[in-house]
Amino acid sequence: MRFRTLLMELKSYNKNIKEVERVKQAYKFASEAHKTHRRASGEHFIQHPLNVAYILTKLKMDADTIIASLLHDSIEDSNVTLEYVDRTFGKEVAMLVDGVTKLTELKVKTIEEHEAENIRKMLMASTKDIRVIIIKLADKLHNMRTISYLTKEQQQRICNETLNVYAPLAYRLGMAGIKWELEDLSFKYIEPEMYQKFKEKFGKKRSQREQEIKAIIKILENELKNHNISAKILGRPKHFYSIYKKMIMKHRTFEELHDLIGLRVIVKDIKECYGVLGTIHNIWKPIPGEFNDYIAMPKENMYQSLHTAVIALNQPVEFQIRTDEMDSIAEEGIAAHWKYKGIYGNETFDKKLSWLKQMLEWQQEADSTKEFMDYLKVDFFEEEIYVFTPKGKVIHLPKGSCPIDFAFAVHTSIGERCIGAVVNGRIIPLRYELKNGDIISIMTAKTANPKRDWLKMVKTTKAKSKIIQFIRASQKIPIGALTKKLSVSAREDGSLVEIKSIAKPDVKFAKCCHPIPDDEIIAYNISSNKYSIHNIECNKIDQKKRNKVILARWKENPSLKIIIKVFAYDRVGLFADILNTVAATGTNIDPAKAKAIGNDLVECSFGIIPEDLEQIKYIISRIRKIKNIKSVYIDNA
Ligand code: MN
Repeated sequence: MRFRTLLMELKSYNKNIKEVERVKQAYKFASEAHKTHRRASGEHFIQHPLNVAYILTKLKMDADTIIASLLHDSIEDSNVTLEYVDRTFGKEVAMLVDGVTKLTELKVKTIEEHEAENIRKMLMASTKDIRVIIIKLADKLHNMRTISYLTKEQQQRICNETLNVYAPLAYRLGMAGIKWELEDLSFKYIEPEMYQKFKEKFGKKRSQREQEIKAIIKILENELKNHNISAKILGRPKHFYSIYKKMIMKHRTFEELHDLIGLRVIVKDIKECYGVLGTIHNIWKPIPGEFNDYIAMPKENMYQSLHTAVIALNQPVEFQIRTDEMDSIAEEGIAAHWKYKGIYGNETFDKKLSWLKQMLEWQQEADSTKEFMDYLKVDFFEEEIYVFTPKGKVIHLPKGSCPIDFAFAVHTSIGERCIGAVVNGRIIPLRYELKNGDIISIMTAKTANPKRDWLKMVKTTKAKSKIIQFIRASQKIPIGALTKKLSVSAREDGSLVEIKSIAKPDVKFAKCCHPIPDDEIIAYNISSNKYSIHNIECNKIDQKKRNKVILARWKENPSLKIIIKVFAYDRVGLFADILNTVAATGTNIDPAKAKAIGNDLVECSFGIIPEDLEQIKYIISRIRKIKNIKSVYIDNA
């Protein structure tokens, strides 16, 4: 692709000469930075940022986004610094580039773990500015379009990650256009033979089919003309992966799949949408149960449209009816929304992103990697239903949810005390599968508790994790491991570490690298007397200002109570094993706690007063040998 092509596309919607000049400057800069790089395809590397920027101009994104996309790989791949980008292209661009820049190589980590860390970093940046995720998706899309040049193994790993993370993210953000393409590309490389079969069956334009579609469009056009409605009527592109998913879910064979006709009608306003709906139902018989009003009830990702299906010319035909604006929001989602409304200080927009913030909050305690990826997967792909509280508040739930899911979605305390449910005025069992439009009221009792059985019924992550959390908290702790002899306050006079020439520093262990007594450490000055202690190898330190870093070391004889935290994949007897292991070293424990995090991870924490540094090292090394342990670290300094 030529830079000129990008410029033309940009100028078609951005007439600001200054901004166009900045884009030119960014292109020059990026070409220089990538001068010696080639892609796996053999092309000059600059083709990649150029294509990513082009995808973003198609979404009509602003100049800062285009500039950041041109620069998005410069920091990783050349010796350009973020400070330089900041000085040359401004704060916003630097922040966007930083958001999509991967963390520098982390030691002792698998590719998957490294990827998970990068995704988390990118999502964090996106909660501050959603354009980060939009650039990342465009980046992913171009990489997927050129994935044929990679090895088989790389293709499999990247396609899986695309299906599990990026396509759902695109869906959540309402960017259906990108979502479909990411899915169909992944499908092509993961199931190449099946993909070919789909292409033959659904991809080709077959003349008879074309004739039928034309005939239906003609009938509708004429009828709409009589009602003075001018509409664009289009055939809908087929998305192989979504048909494939339905085939798997409904246990159909490939031969049983039908090539359904789907049409889209685009009109100027909402009133006309309903007008078109009425007209269609007037000409052809609607199929019961196939009508959905996503205009009155938008999906959580902002999607709006009327859906119906009718029997026309002896076959089922699906219609989507929407306005132009709804159509671009359906295809471009948050990117379109960003353009129409801007993002700052827009309450609805913030609400749309609350799921992202909430997910990151749930995640803060977990030690990233696997659980984090699991969190991303769950709930994302599920088809949505909407139900109501007795007061008429809409609650969105994944399809297959039961009243317990609903109860937890309304409030944790309602979920925990739930004893029964009334749906549409009738008492129903708790395992009942909720349907669109159900009105639900939950019966509660003060003394009621979550039951283990519920885990088999619930569908949402929230309900599941709350139930596990409750069960875990009520489990018994082995006797003997606990003791109250301890008088903590008398000995709590110091810290685990000392910092060179600082008398009484206020210190905390950094959460990025969790130093433990075998690591060499440094202190990073946060403000006046506040320091965070990092592993000397922590890569976050590189990004921080070196002049704020001071030598630190572990005290040989610390005298204070410390809290040790353990993350582990849950299994029967795990908590008891941990406590018994510590007790076996002759150490007293107080207090000890355990709670569930996510579906299968548990966090245990316990306090000890160590004799010396060696004892801490010994305890940590013993705990690490217990089966299912993921990580062990010290919580306070
Ligand atoms: Mn890239």
